[in-house]
Amino acid sequence: MKYVKYILTTLVLLVLLAGMVKPYKITKTEYLMDTLITITAYGFGNEKNVDKAFNEIKRIDNLLNVYDEKSEIFKINENASTGFVSVTDEVYDLLKDAVSLSEKTNGAFDITLHPVISLWGIGTENAIVPEDYEIKEALLKTGIQNIEFDDEKKAVKFKKDGMGINLGAFAKGYASDKAVEVLKKSGVKNAVLDLGGNVATLGKRPLSFTDALRHASFYRPFAVGIQNPDKKRGEPIEKIIAEEDLFIITSGSYERYFEKDGKRYHHIIDPKTGYPAKCHIKSATVVTKNGALGDALSTASFILGEDSLEVLKPYAEDIILIDEDLNILR
Ligand code: AMP
Ligand code: MG
Repeated sequence: MKYVKYILTTLVLLVLLAGMVKPYKITKTEYLMDTLITITAYGFGNEKNVDKAFNEIKRIDNLLNVYDEKSEIFKINENASTGFVSVTDEVYDLLKDAVSLSEKTNGAFDITLHPVISLWGIGTENAIVPEDYEIKEALLKTGIQNIEFDDEKKAVKFKKDGMGINLGAFAKGYASDKAVEVLKKSGVKNAVLDLGGNVATLGKRPLSFTDALRHASFYRPFAVGIQNPDKKRGEPIEKIIAEEDLFIITSGSYERYFEKDGKRYHHIIDPKTGYPAKCHIKSATVVTKNGALGDALSTASFILGEDSLEVLKPYAEDIILIDEDLNILR
């Protein structure tokens, strides 16, 4: 009997010690929104909360996915050329935000590019280099000024036939906002979310007992790597130290592209030309306190290149560009 007590006490002590040595965390990864999404939450009992965050991301994907026949965006694209389409308050507000972000980015971020984006098909199995006249024709069906808004009915209408909305440059950022909101509401204090290169931090990183002794603190800020565009995934070229809750969002030509006749065509389209943005940078990272904002700005920043350091500065905490020679500009 004496021995049983002794063994049990030792076991309890060992479990406690293990907890002190390594902070407990739960990490889950799912393929959603056309990308790998990983959520890590620190502290015991957060499994369900991480699941709730994933459910929220699924809900947003179902709402905004342009290729999902049941989504609100699909419904708009199908019907808004012939009359007003009513949408939920959430989608209405998002569309309004997207239009205002288009204005802030001098038109570089443009949710009406769908006709041009689907023509190229970059990221799908049917990617092609369209004829120049096709691009020009598709461009005629774009422009945020061609969306009509009815604030009372929360409805939208296209002024031109064949128009379409695509939130591909915006949706993951918004999903990260909402997932963080869910985690916070569930009582999660420390977490990091990675939505295919869109990173969000919540709180700080709890330290192991030994690290805590070394730093004289139980927490350190999360350090978020910026991907080296020329190296395989996970190899950073720079790090952002998140002293507060932040969204660190990157757009890069290396993320999605195809090659034809030895030429590379990436997925970020310049609304002025209808072609993949010609710029001298490989990636643009924007640090913000809001995910949807950061996502729109990162896409715009890639298109604007060095000009974005001036134009977008008022809206971001930080902007980091990686140029063709892997120099860091900010
Ligand atoms: P991101 O990775 O956030 O920069 O978003 C790129 C995705 O947004 C592309 O795959 C397109 O679906 C869409 N897109 C491309 N160019 C633009 C643009 N100029 N404005 C808005 N969305 C765009
Ligand atoms: Mg974006």
